[in-house]
Amino acid sequence: MTDTAAEAAAVLDRLGVPRAAYTGGDLPVRSPIDGAVIGRVPTHGPADVAAAVGRAAAAFAAWRPVPAPQRGELVRRYGEALRAHKADLGRLVSLEAGKIVQEGLGEVQEMIDICDFAVGLSRQLYGLTIATERPGHRMMETWHPLGPVAVVTAFNFPVAVWSWNAMLAFVCGDSVVWKPSEKTPLTALACHALFERTAAAIEGVPAHLSNLVIGARDVGMALVDDARMPLVSATGSTRMGREVAPRVAARFGRAILELGGNNGMIVAPSADLALAERGITFAAVGTCGQRCTTLRRIIVHEGVYDRLVPRLASIWGRLPIGSPLEAGTLIGPLIDAAAFEAMQKALAQARAEGGTVHGGGRTLADRWPDARYVAPALVEMPAQSAIVARETFAPILYVMRYRDLDEAIAMHNAVPQGLASSIFTTDLREAERFMSAAGSDCGIVNVNIGPSGAEIGGAFGGEKETGGGRESGSDAWKGYMRRATNTINYSTALPLAQGIRFEIDG
Ligand code: NAD
Repeated sequence: MTDTAAEAAAVLDRLGVPRAAYTGGDLPVRSPIDGAVIGRVPTHGPADVAAAVGRAAAAFAAWRPVPAPQRGELVRRYGEALRAHKADLGRLVSLEAGKIVQEGLGEVQEMIDICDFAVGLSRQLYGLTIATERPGHRMMETWHPLGPVAVVTAFNFPVAVWSWNAMLAFVCGDSVVWKPSEKTPLTALACHALFERTAAAIEGVPAHLSNLVIGARDVGMALVDDARMPLVSATGSTRMGREVAPRVAARFGRAILELGGNNGMIVAPSADLALAERGITFAAVGTCGQRCTTLRRIIVHEGVYDRLVPRLASIWGRLPIGSPLEAGTLIGPLIDAAAFEAMQKALAQARAEGGTVHGGGRTLADRWPDARYVAPALVEMPAQSAIVARETFAPILYVMRYRDLDEAIAMHNAVPQGLASSIFTTDLREAERFMSAAGSDCGIVNVNIGPSGAEIGGAFGGEKETGGGRESGSDAWKGYMRRATNTINYSTALPLAQGIRFEIDG
């Protein structure tokens, strides 16, 4: 057994995952750290998916009448369990997704944060009282649980995205069926085992509130097509969203789509360049360029280009790349060989489109022949050509010049995706313009920080090919509930809205 496999087994045991759940199955799980198989997980078929949805529907019927603050108590206790197991779960994220330890821990902290948010929310599922035009009437909104929620997640945030959805769903009175990425089922098994244990210890929590189905695209499709799930929250590539959205729409289901990004930054002449350098570096190479909010394009004013870009090239050349488990590493591996091939293809295309590529090659192949470590790439482009407009899920940062802000904003918005964006400027007018209706067209618009690393308190998501969904904070909870408008007549008359007269003779 390799070190990574042994460590994963030890962590899974401590997290309460039975050995049978990750040994002897048909889906091999590889650690991107060394390419070793660290688990073999049994997958589910369409009949298993249907059964899981059936169990979730039964749990929903039992959970729906439980008062929301009591539902919050379950989530509070789950947050406690996550605190107690943060180190182990964070380590497992590193082992399975290849994130450096700091980022693995950060992802678990994000789960804890959304638990805290959801607990507070469980006492704040407010509806409005609305002025009515009819005398002796009252009009109001009530928010009700929606039903079992399908949650499909990507490999790169293997635990946080589920918790963003599930914790809100649970306080909203819904049950959940989760299909994690086929590349990261172990962390899902761990989260699920912890949740089951927490739920079983609380009186009144029905069995099967949280359900897990394991498998690839076909399992996801079986889930998405099940009309007993009024909401599908799907996180992943735009390609996946294109397949999922029409299927959910065909059965009049609701979808929250969190798809690909191609996140840009404008670096203005007045920018604090030392700050920009740090913001750019974390956002572009953190998680080895495998965040949906990774910085992929910088649009730099021609007056500061020659000061900024050589410095970035020098930083790119000395970033510590290595095992994400080793202290000091800032860039871990790509998830797999396919990600590496996609990166190399994109770099070749960038060269063909006139780009000058710094870095981007494979490294550490001697030490880890079955893993894919890469030097991050910085690519100076003469224009925003076809390759720049595409999301390549790897650490490639395209750099372009601009002359005036109108041109920069137009370039910034001239890609099909609309997730996260930022501007580095100390000019208030520029900052406000970028955030205005005529500025960035993204769901996340930042000033003097990079586009990645969102907090859970805000609504998360983006426009255009990013899918339009919002989850996590703010009022994203409304997506997990159904709204009823109630009008109550406490008078002895029956006035009709719009003043309509409808008198019955006699
Ligand atoms: P992916 O699209 O390959 O897979 C995502 C999930 O969708 C997996 O669980 C997969 O099995 C499932 N799936 C694929 N096709 C499906 C179908 N037709 N029906 C149902 N399920 C299907 O994505 P990935 O490689 O795991 O993740 C990387 C992508 O995810 C990037 O594009 C990234 O930008 C995006 N992402 C977006 C966000 C966001 O919040 N916007 C967050 C994380 C990742």
